[in-house]
Amino acid sequence: FSERVDSWLDDEDEEADENSVEGLRIAEDVSNGTARVLCTRCFSLTNYGRIKSAMAEAALPEFDLAKRVGRKLALQRFRRSVVLCVVDAADFDGSLPRNALRALLPAAGQAAADAPQLVMAINKVDLLPTQATPLRVQAWARRRARQGGLPQPARVALVSAASGTGVPSLLRTLHEEVGGRGDVWVVGAQNAGKSSLINAMRRAVGKGDIKAEITTAALPGTTLGMLKVPGVMPPKCKMFDTPGVPHKFQLTSRLSADEVRLLLPRRRLRPRTYRLGEGQSLLMGGCARVDILSSPGATLYLTVWASDDVICHFGRTDSADERLEKHSGVTLVPPLGGPERREELGPLVADDVDITGTSWKFSTVDVAIAGLGWLGVGVAGNALLRVWAHKGVAVTTREALL
Ligand code: GDP
Repeated sequence: FSERVDSWLDDEDEEADENSVEGLRIAEDVSNGTARVLCTRCFSLTNYGRIKSAMAEAALPEFDLAKRVGRKLALQRFRRSVVLCVVDAADFDGSLPRNALRALLPAAGQAAADAPQLVMAINKVDLLPTQATPLRVQAWARRRARQGGLPQPARVALVSAASGTGVPSLLRTLHEEVGGRGDVWVVGAQNAGKSSLINAMRRAVGKGDIKAEITTAALPGTTLGMLKVPGVMPPKCKMFDTPGVPHKFQLTSRLSADEVRLLLPRRRLRPRTYRLGEGQSLLMGGCARVDILSSPGATLYLTVWASDDVICHFGRTDSADERLEKHSGVTLVPPLGGPERREELGPLVADDVDITGTSWKFSTVDVAIAGLGWLGVGVAGNALLRVWAHKGVAVTTREALL
């Protein structure tokens, strides 16, 4: 869709492109002497890294993934279907599109032999610390899928679209799963790196042509309709890209492009560990706060796994409100833009989390804040934490990843 629309879309497959250019104006980019047609939105993304006009944004058609892709999957006879779900390793719980997967795949334990298969690609593994070994992450992801009521993935692949790690192996997996005749549907939450991974797969099969690369950006909703991705799958097999699933419960979905850039980690996550006691609080930018309500007789260690650009600060709980009031959006970033922006985003709301720990040497529980990252909580006893985030941002307690 983004460029060379004609070569990207399959003329025989009317549905594949029906949403792609609807409601969008076309702009011509003649900057390098070769005229190419881009929609206003892609032109802005390519040239300015942002969406220029609110009108282009407002004109975006809604895409009902469950209905549109679900119908296609139901109609597939004599073809194998694979749903390739791209998840962000640095924001697993925030980026796992549970509802979309539940709508597209048979419930756990009810799969017929010809039912679509799930392949989970955990992307951005270049960001995970080295102690997150592949076996550990794969087993953990399978358990998280089971706990979330999702069907067991046929495969869990660890990949990095940025470095290309794991991409050839993912391609082999997809080829095996679709067999000689079948389709791969690529789904994922916005910003999980779906477009980057598709480009990496195209590069890996030698079809990567920089002019034809689909647009990737730290902005939600870069792909608008179902698109056929040429060249990745063997003959008689097709790959389709689908629009990023919007996750309103991810912090990233409500921040500006500049703020999102601060949240998306640019290098391997480094642990930032804080030793806290009762009556102390940790602030993560102006976007999240953790108060230690009680940790009887035990010191508690909080390890922040988030982008380096999220500025953390700890101090007394009774001055936390005042510090947020004064510094959120100024020195405590993100957000960016001082008191006005803080007002716009609304107040942080509290959620109490009960922790029963066994050893402070290892994080016993993770508290994941969708779109921001996660906190490893290590405590040699019980503790009660109060986790604050913007209203609607999901806070999840889960088995520790590390
Ligand atoms: P989409 O919305 O799912 O299509 O996501 P994009 O492909 O546009 O990627 C969203 C952001 O994640 C961009 O800033 C990418 O540069 C970044 N990203 C994508 N893949 C990787 C990866 O493997 N590693 C890292 N570190 N960043 C990635």
